[in-house]
Amino acid sequence: MTKNRAAMMQDFKNKLAAFERGTVWLAGAGPGDPGLITLLAAKGLGESDIIMYDALVNDDILELAGPHTTLEYVGKRAGVKSLKQPEITARMIAHARAGKRILRLKGGDPFIFGRGGEEAIELAKAGIHFRIIPGVTAGIGGIAYAGIPATHRDINNVISFVTGRDATGQLPVNIDWEALASGSPVIVFYMALKTMPEISEKLIQAGRSPNTPVAIISNASVADQSVIETTLENYKKMALETALERPATIVVGESVKIRGLLKNWQQTISNSLEKTETGT
Ligand code: SAH
Repeated sequence: MTKNRAAMMQDFKNKLAAFERGTVWLAGAGPGDPGLITLLAAKGLGESDIIMYDALVNDDILELAGPHTTLEYVGKRAGVKSLKQPEITARMIAHARAGKRILRLKGGDPFIFGRGGEEAIELAKAGIHFRIIPGVTAGIGGIAYAGIPATHRDINNVISFVTGRDATGQLPVNIDWEALASGSPVIVFYMALKTMPEISEKLIQAGRSPNTPVAIISNASVADQSVIETTLENYKKMALETALERPATIVVGESVKIRGLLKNWQQTISNSLEKTETGT
């Protein structure tokens, strides 16, 4: 006899990992659209005792928290002092030692520019079992929502993910711009709104054409997603004239042009059309 749908769903849920007491699930929440979280992250939201979440986690996703789950905000928000990284880790370890199930929820993917690696190392050192639950990262899923494929056979066999700021807030000093400019047809920048004028200059100096297309995708996959298209050469001028919204991911490379072929047909956020501007 065939099983009914509810029984099948239950069987399927039973295949997902069990959330054990005294453990931490270090999970990615994706770029914003609640439809992009994984089933494991959704299960973790519902079964956790405590959710420790960061600034970039969309509030809609937190609605999946269980009725007895405590929400602990540990991120930065304008004007509010954020917990320091060691304080977050110490708190997580203390909760785990008290036998709680902790969902440590981060925007995007926890291991991409999200300090997930640092936190996992501290958990391991403290002898706490944890599970890593990858998420959709802004530099792949966020740009996809803007109609930009991370790879395309005619454009790139290589893609690079680069952070525009280091721990001190400055452009990282150890980036080999020549190698990046010549070796990576498509480059995706995180946290780079501030340093992008400098980045554009460095890429041009390193031999990248000033006409290389650039897209700035703000609030990817949420209702106010917006995309601005410009070029390396024009970024600086455009940035001075246009209010660029955070968070933003910046794509440099010919794949930005694919967007023009898709955008009238691609359904993204609630099927609504996003704001699009073309930079000068
Ligand atoms: N772990 C995250 C990245 C955290 S760093 C991930 O995998 O996506 C924060 C940067 O991520 C932002 O400065 C921005 O570059 C990017 N970002 C995160 N969410 C975004 C969104 N919804 N739209 C555009 N960029 C986003």
